[in-house]
Amino acid sequence: MLSLTLREVSVAFREGKSSPTELCRKCLNRIKQNQHLNAYITVTEELGLKQAHEAETRLLRGTPKGPLDGIPFAVKDNFCTKNVKTTCASKMLKDYTPPYSATVVQKLFDQGAVLIGKTNMDEFAMGSGSTDGAFGPVRNPWSYATPYCERTGAVPDSDWVISGGSSGGSAAAVASLTSYLALGSDTGGSTRNPGALCGVVALKPTYGLLSRHGLIPLVNSFDVPGIMTRSASDAAVILGILQGVDTKDSTTVPGPPPSTELPENLDVKNLFIGIPKEFYPPGLSKETVAQWSRVADMFENSGARVEQVSLPHSQYSTVCYHVLCCAEVASNMACFDGLQYGHRSQMDSSTEAMYATTRHEGFNDVVRGRILSGNYFLLKQNYEHYFLKAQKVRRLIADDFKRVFDSGVDVLLTPITLSDAMRYDDFTKEDNRTRSSQEDVFTIPANMAGLPAVSVPTALSRKGLPIGLQLIGHPFRDKKLLSVAQWIEQRVGFPSISNFKESSRQRSSYNHNFAGVQRAQVSI
Ligand code: GLN
Repeated sequence: MLSLTLREVSVAFREGKSSPTELCRKCLNRIKQNQHLNAYITVTEELGLKQAHEAETRLLRGTPKGPLDGIPFAVKDNFCTKNVKTTCASKMLKDYTPPYSATVVQKLFDQGAVLIGKTNMDEFAMGSGSTDGAFGPVRNPWSYATPYCERTGAVPDSDWVISGGSSGGSAAAVASLTSYLALGSDTGGSTRNPGALCGVVALKPTYGLLSRHGLIPLVNSFDVPGIMTRSASDAAVILGILQGVDTKDSTTVPGPPPSTELPENLDVKNLFIGIPKEFYPPGLSKETVAQWSRVADMFENSGARVEQVSLPHSQYSTVCYHVLCCAEVASNMACFDGLQYGHRSQMDSSTEAMYATTRHEGFNDVVRGRILSGNYFLLKQNYEHYFLKAQKVRRLIADDFKRVFDSGVDVLLTPITLSDAMRYDDFTKEDNRTRSSQEDVFTIPANMAGLPAVSVPTALSRKGLPIGLQLIGHPFRDKKLLSVAQWIEQRVGFPSISNFKESSRQRSSYNHNFAGVQRAQVSI
């Protein structure tokens, strides 16, 4: 039941083979069994069961709200959820309970979906591993499946691999079958990176298609809500529900939302697939290249036109991103001053001292570092040299994409990560900034240009860990992107984690020192 698609669950409900309450309990039990993954910061057991009961009543009356009525979902902990803690995995917001829900969350509630929890992440979504949050790192569910343990001889509790990030909790939640869908956020790759490393479909929609209202901002001009599911067709269902103009977000695009119904069988004969030649950095693993070629060949053998294209400025994406991200972070984080929201230091010898110690105590060193860099880039004497220059290069990056798409390319096919997931111990040898500039090379360009991009799982690596590929498309042709993703999905046969036994090795319960922050239990 837990590995079915959304449509299959709807049918099971209609035919009385399962019920929202039964399903919600199954997901909650599975969350308990998978506590060692640390995928959730808050489990909304009481709220979930209440919503499931309401959905059940509607279904029994024959008046379901739609295809999501009674379906459990999880939300990254940087989306506001009314009366449910929203921490951004930061000590700064560890007790923050918003009085309203983000538009995308509200839309899921309006469809009868059942919230089962808020997922773990990097603090304020700054990271690529879900290793830099106040509630400890997220473990990749594939670390505990037999392929990884048997092929590498790994001991799960010491050799576990990262989930990717920053939406690692959401990806782990969907991959470990504790939730049918999860919301992530994507500023520089945070939905697609963990999607690839955990083997789930992860869509970063076109900027402006989904409302950001209630998504606690990282970089307003890049942020988009991301959709994580176990199939492209499930992602299309969710996209159809979440898209659309919102008066509370002036960057959403007006007009009738496009259809998201995917064709059963896509004919790829008229498709032009571009392979960007610059997406071949040092460190790209042979296995990832092999997957990339394999899928490109699949398209070619089915009659699609597959050609190399050039995006010459994309190589500057990460450095530009760093400047623009830090500049927006410096301004966005200004509201966390101990007065308006969240944590407040007890040091109140003066207002200035209170501000300073609140921010020192409340933020981790990654957030503080980005605020400092951002303020430096925005200094009067630096503004033109850093911020304005980065904006100009951002335009060149976007123009490269436009030129390639104007030449007839429908979709770009690229890697998404350099390799399969790294062991936590290896990943954390580097600092957050170095890791981000290595890990995000394939994902940031699409954010620079506001383009839709999706991560599709294609295979298990030799080690038994997921490898994904990325498709990048024309703005507002998210449906086309998902239909191409579905075409790949139908051919590669990526396995569900439910096909494998969990390693029989001993697992200890999660026991991390959460930097002094109390782990939230069940809170409504
Ligand atoms: N890894 C990038 C960063 O740390 C992207 C994060 C994101 O998309 N939220 O900024």
